[in-house]
Parts: sequence; C-alpha cells; structure tokens
Amino acid sequence: MNPTEVKKVKALLSKPKNSVIVTHWSPDGDAIGSSLGLYNYLVKKDHNVTVITPNDYPSFLDWMKGEKKILDFQKKGSAAKKLVAKADLIFCLDFNSLKRIDKLGDEVSASSAIKFIIDHHLQPEDFADYMLHSVAACSTCELIYDFISLMGDKKLLDKDIANCLYTGIMTDTGSFRFPSTTAKTHLILSDLIKAGAENAAIHNRIYDDNTESKLKLLGFCLNEKLRVLPEYRTAFFSLSAEELKRFDYKKGDTEGVVNYALSIAGIRFAAFLVERDGIIKTSFRSKGSFDVNKFARAHFSGGGHANAAGGMSELSLPKTIDKFVSLLPQYEKQLHAKK
Ligand code: 5GP
Ligand code: MN
Repeated sequence: MNPTEVKKVKALLSKPKNSVIVTHWSPDGDAIGSSLGLYNYLVKKDHNVTVITPNDYPSFLDWMKGEKKILDFQKKGSAAKKLVAKADLIFCLDFNSLKRIDKLGDEVSASSAIKFIIDHHLQPEDFADYMLHSVAACSTCELIYDFISLMGDKKLLDKDIANCLYTGIMTDTGSFRFPSTTAKTHLILSDLIKAGAENAAIHNRIYDDNTESKLKLLGFCLNEKLRVLPEYRTAFFSLSAEELKRFDYKKGDTEGVVNYALSIAGIRFAAFLVERDGIIKTSFRSKGSFDVNKFARAHFSGGGHANAAGGMSELSLPKTIDKFVSLLPQYEKQLHAKK
C-alpha cells in the first residue's frame, strides 16, 4: 500500500463497517493467528467482524481470543455466504489465489465488498482493491503488525492481538529458525511481548499439545515410512488413508512431519505425500536455492514459498510416489548446487 492508499484505508476503517476475514484451506498457525489478530484489532475499532475459514483447523489453535466465533464454511455455509455478500470489507489473509479458499472463493469473487490481500506468498493473483504483500515477510502475522502500524494504531496492540500475532510468526518461522526470520521479526516479537504476548505459554499450547496417537504416528513415519534418496539429496514420507485411520488421525497430526526428512544431514529437498479427502496432498520443503514453489506449480497444481510449498495429486498414492521419484533426475543438478 502506498501513502495515498494508506490514507484511504485509514478513512475506511475510521467508521464501523461489516468486515469479513477469510483465510486459506486447512488453516495453519499463521492463517488463524493473522485472522484473529486482525479480528481483535478491528473489534477494538468497533467494526462488526467475522472470520470465515474454508474448513476446519487443528485443535492446538483453539485457545486464541475470538476463536469460538470463527465460522467454518463447510459447516455454516449459508450463514457465511450471507455475511460475505453483505460485507463492506473483505480481508484475504495468508493466501495468494482464490483457489486456495475452495468454494468460498466464488462467494468472495461475487461480493461487491472492498477487498484486501495481506499475504507473503509468491506470485499473488490480482483480485483485490488493496494489497499489503511482501515475500520478504516471515509470516502474514508480521504483515498484520505492519498494517496496524501503518494505520497509526500500535497503541491498540494488547495481549489478545499480541498472542495471535506471536503464534503465526512462531509457527511460520519454525520457531524463529527459518531464513525468513530477520532482525525486524525479532523487533516485532519484542513489541508483541511488551504488549503482553505470553510467549512461553504459547510455545506450550502449540507444541506440547500432542496426543499419544499423534506421537505414535510420527514414530511410524520415522521408523517405517521414511525414504531417503541420497543421490538426489531428497527424503520423503508417504501415508495412506488406511494408515491415518490406524493412528486415529486428527487434523494437524502430521503438521511438521516433513521437517524431519529435511533435518537429515545433506538433504536439500523433503516431501510429504498423504492421502486425505480423496486426493493426495503434497507438502514440499527445501534448503538453499532449490525452489519448491516452482516445483509444486509445475507438477502438483500448487505453490507457496521458495522453501515451503504444497500442492495436490489426483493420481493414486503409489502413482503419486512414482511420479515424484521420477521427477527427481531432471532436478539432479539443482539439488547438488553448492548453495
Ligand atoms: P504445507 O505444506 O504446510 O501445507 O504448506 C506449505 C506452504 O505452501 C504454505 O505457505 C501454504 O500456504 C502453501 N501451500 C500449501 N498447499 C498449497 C496449494 O495447494 N497451493 C498453493 N498455491 N499453496 C499451497
Ligand atoms: Mn503464512
């Protein structure tokens, strides 16, 4: 947003409006943290706000202020449709393409509301009136902090907003360890803690909320499902629907598993292929210059960031695995690049 746009948006927010916040399919910590961070800020400015998610999200995110009021489009479709249709403002957070919000995308597209994209994914589509977009931002939560600052409202930061924003920064940076973490990120975290973010408690709520079956599923992945292909500096896991069922899979139970494959010394490219909701969902992670956003776009109808992306496959799980493995030789040189 340029200074003229900032002025216009300040004017828009100065009077209560009907606002809707939407975020991406299978919301993660940054999606829910940024949505509820913005929600709590707009509520403080007396707006009438609703957060709508395209589907459900993991239970380790269910403690944030405002979470109980989130509308799940899959469960409350008609109420959500009405709110989108009569919204004055729609904020699209942590996604770059309406495809990422599934059927909710048609409703957002049809609504005459003024639309915002606040996001940090590569190659955003052009469907909004205002955009606060930076691929340099570690998370959408960082951009919500920037948005509140641009509105001249840093004084409104409080414990509830800070807890939400801290959560998204923490989860999207792998607890402040990915290269996206900058000095600015830490300055923002410092401000959030000053505003009341309960940093130690948040780490406990997110990372120490495991069930026994989740840990056993992780053990199964590590013990029996890890495939390492040192010739391509690649390691991956795959899980069938039957295996998920065997371990009483709940949403969020496989989040982060892909990072174990990437943690092997010498591995540059990691993948996680899982049979869920009748398709194969793919997660890709990389270290260094190997661009998984490009890989996901080219072969798995997906996208994301250069070092973390996702996509899908309509082939069976064994065929998806074959496809993945057969793609590797063409990337051999890139995977062995020095950087
Ligand atoms: P994850 O592997 O954790 O699901 O996603 C990694 C990153 O890629 C996240 O930033 C996520 O928003 C993005 N992503 C995941 N799946 C897709 C997809 O199907 N399409 C696009 N464009 N991005 C995705
Ligand atoms: Mn994000």
